[in-house]
Amino acid sequence: MKILVDFDKCNSNAVCQAAAPEVFEVREDNFLYILDENPSEALRAKVEAAVRACPTHAIRVED
Ligand code: SF4
Repeated sequence: MKILVDFDKCNSNAVCQAAAPEVFEVREDNFLYILDENPSEALRAKVEAAVRACPTHAIRVED
């Protein structure tokens, strides 16, 4: 799967990081970094939880 984030929508609240810290990280510069753009299937449930939890609907997953 491929992680796509619309950074214009992201407001760096780190909700996705709480759901999937292996994939998303908001750093001290207040920007979101994608740690793994092509995470393994083992992380799918966490990634989907992050997609659902993102309050600005900024995250998309492509297969
Ligand atoms: S949950 Fe959404 S708005 Fe918040 S940091 Fe992640 S991508 Fe950005």
